[in-house]
Amino acid sequence: MDLTIEQARALDTSSRNGLIESSKRWPNNRVFYEINDEHTMEELVEIERAMQVIESVSCVQFKERTHEHGYIVFGASGSGCSSKVGYHGNAQTINLAPKCFQRFGTIIHELLHALGFYHMQSTHDRDDYIKINYENIRTGMERNFNKYDLQRVTNFGQKYDYESVMHYSGYGFSKNGQPTIEPYNKSYTNVIGQRIGMSSTDILKLNIMYNCNSLDETYESGPFCTRNLNLPMCLLKPST
Ligand SMILES: [Zn+2]
Repeated sequence: MDLTIEQARALDTSSRNGLIESSKRWPNNRVFYEINDEHTMEELVEIERAMQVIESVSCVQFKERTHEHGYIVFGASGSGCSSKVGYHGNAQTINLAPKCFQRFGTIIHELLHALGFYHMQSTHDRDDYIKINYENIRTGMERNFNKYDLQRVTNFGQKYDYESVMHYSGYGFSKNGQPTIEPYNKSYTNVIGQRIGMSSTDILKLNIMYNCNSLDETYESGPFCTRNLNLPMCLLKPST
């Protein structure tokens, strides 16, 4: 679990899940980045792989920075795994300490923050799906369990996603080993907090956020769906 990330983010007043404000999206779906020399070769390979995964399921592209003002700097000088949310128009750090490489999904999680996603359990409708046990949360960390209204966050029309790589695990910020988040649907108890990779809904939301669908007039036959056959939008006939 990535506690220090969330602690760091607790200090950032902009903590929420799918960002509505379009000025915080990366212009032209292009994310520029630099990697400083704090990462090992193995870590660089993983960062590269995470960017490729996101590119393979969306129209988002990662490019090495030349002179652009808005860009990500990958570094490891901090202790946790952290990222700002959305595009900021200047240098914004994604900190990936060595422990962040234990689970591939953690790198994806931080990249999705940078692309404009907040935590799943911050959405306005979360109380219909999960129970927050405030009595088990470490003192001072309660704000990590805030939820945000529809003015600030959107699910892009998608159902609450227990499988999201942006969801906390059941024990995030627990002070006593007891769960801080319990899904009402118990079959998801051990699913929430997965850090394997993006869920199909994560992928769909990313594509909606960045208007990737418009690349393909006909979803079923376009290059986007050829690569991503299992996405709902590729299984449905496009509306005309
Ligand atoms: Zn996070």
